[in-house]
Amino acid sequence: MPQLPRPLFPTLALAVAVLGTGAVQAQTFSAVAPTPAQVRPAVDQAYTQLLSASQVQQLLEAVKADHERSIDDLRMLTEIEAPPFKEHKRAEAFLARMKALGLADAKIDAEGNVVGLRKGTGNGPKLLVSAHLDTVFPAGTDVKVKDLGNGKLAAPGISDDTRGLAVLLSWLKVLNDHNIQTVGDLLFVGNVGEEELGNLRGMKRIFADHLDIDGMVGLEPAPDGSVLILGTGSHRYEVTFKGPGGHSYGAFGQVPSAIHGMGRAIAKIAEVKTPSFPKTTFTVGTVSGGTSVNTIAPEAKMAVDIRSDQMEPLLETEKKILAAIDEAVVEENRRWNVSTLSVSSKLIGDRPGGKTPPDSVIVEAATRANASFGHKTLLSGASTDANVPMSLGIPAIIVGGGGKTGGFHAMSEWIDVTDAWKGAQNSLVTVLGLVGVQGVTQPLLEKRPPRAK
Ligand SMILES: [Zn+2]
Repeated sequence: MPQLPRPLFPTLALAVAVLGTGAVQAQTFSAVAPTPAQVRPAVDQAYTQLLSASQVQQLLEAVKADHERSIDDLRMLTEIEAPPFKEHKRAEAFLARMKALGLADAKIDAEGNVVGLRKGTGNGPKLLVSAHLDTVFPAGTDVKVKDLGNGKLAAPGISDDTRGLAVLLSWLKVLNDHNIQTVGDLLFVGNVGEEELGNLRGMKRIFADHLDIDGMVGLEPAPDGSVLILGTGSHRYEVTFKGPGGHSYGAFGQVPSAIHGMGRAIAKIAEVKTPSFPKTTFTVGTVSGGTSVNTIAPEAKMAVDIRSDQMEPLLETEKKILAAIDEAVVEENRRWNVSTLSVSSKLIGDRPGGKTPPDSVIVEAATRANASFGHKTLLSGASTDANVPMSLGIPAIIVGGGGKTGGFHAMSEWIDVTDAWKGAQNSLVTVLGLVGVQGVTQPLLEKRPPRAK
């Protein structure tokens, strides 16, 4: 999570360089840089108009008035466990709430995402607004919400990302209660597969099915003012070396060793050079194999993690590592004049990466909306659902939904919902500026030509 604002950086190049000094992990927002407060006049004007319109003011009052009810949704959804690949029960509950709050045609798609379209007046852009259904916690985890007093609630998954789901429902309710007609369409989604080996399968499906999405605003636990614009991509491999194996004394000289072959590969991988900007990393994270101290190992396995803030260096590093593995096998076979050592590499993690330019309309919109709530914008990066649109060149950001949060991915995960409605208002205002409100503002988000299948 971004904590302290860093010095002002005028360009993304520098901003990303700053990011490169901090650890980036899935679900850990790391600070890029504060944004200059300046936004283009059209953005500034749209938000001035929006915030002075009485129907929008009433809408924001309604978000506040809906706070207690939305916390009931938060508790209800949190207490339905949703481990990766087992989000179905929670999806059903979320779908039922979506329907009850006015999206009668909402449904669950082939991947398990809950999808509901709230149409605009027509001819406007289509904005995806989303939060993920899954949590990192395995089946059987105690997900009962504990009330710690003074607005603080604790339960696994309560802030990441169940709060986001509850905020989407609250937006839906107030928009419908107040008959707010947006110009652009809002595609409401509670998606699967954000965490771990879900590999963003939910978002990948959304963008494969909906070729006309023009932008995305995702909700994740994040401090007020935080706008995520960088999506760190990753590829992960499980690499298995296999040989005939044999007695360490009796078979010596006749068979290659799976462990020696893997050792050669690791030595080569350790020498791979990567750029520090965009930050590109690799590691052999785990190794296993062998049967006993006096056996020439028939099998050895390792897991390799490769990450980058851009796809090109990610793929280049991946190529070098896979080549190093193949060379190592050739060398080990040559050493004993055999051809019996083989290797197979299985892709077990695949998250595309990308970025949303800091001077794009979607970032300026969020910056302007944040400013109207008294927050300085802090740009950040992490691996989230937004990686998918970013990799496709579709403008995407992740913002907070309100409330102080912490302890992500730990049993002690918590949220302090005191005044959390302010964050729900702030992010809703960001969204409304992007899609426009009939009779008040035109959409700021640009319509894109539909993508080809
Ligand atoms: Zn999350």
